[in-house]
Amino acid sequence: MKYCYNKKLMIEINVLSLPVGISEQKFQWVIRKDEYDFFNEDVYINGFFHINNIHGRQIEFNGKIEFEIQLVCDRCLKKFKKKIEENVIFILKKDYIGDDIDIISFNDFYCNITDFVKDLVITSLPIKVLCDENCKGICPGCGVNLNEEKCKCNL
Ligand SMILES: [Zn+2]
Ligand SMILES: [Zn+2]
Repeated sequence: MKYCYNKKLMIEINVLSLPVGISEQKFQWVIRKDEYDFFNEDVYINGFFHINNIHGRQIEFNGKIEFEIQLVCDRCLKKFKKKIEENVIFILKKDYIGDDIDIISFNDFYCNITDFVKDLVITSLPIKVLCDENCKGICPGCGVNLNEEKCKCNL
């Protein structure tokens, strides 16, 4: 699969590339790790959207994003990969002035959605991060990862 981003590492939607009316569209976006301290590695995002393009002035997106991200378990501190799926609704609106966070203004053929996608990824992450629901964590006494080793406290 080919993931698209331009030289400035922005995620943009070419408004002219979207057919007027209703369509189904697939997007591939990348958030570069160098760009945001928050991410340990590049995040590759697949977006699947049902789009209603109203005369190129208001374009409504309704669908979902999917991505895999490296997280650190709150209990055992191990790094692991997690696949995340999140439903998303947003609107691109020509010359929009307002503070609705789901409406992104554009005034050119390209609409910059980098910050929106970045926030979307961050807010779709679980508040409590566990490698497994039954993660046994780290022994406070001997410090071993109890998922992998037996406690050595009473040896
Ligand atoms: Zn864990
Ligand atoms: Zn122990």
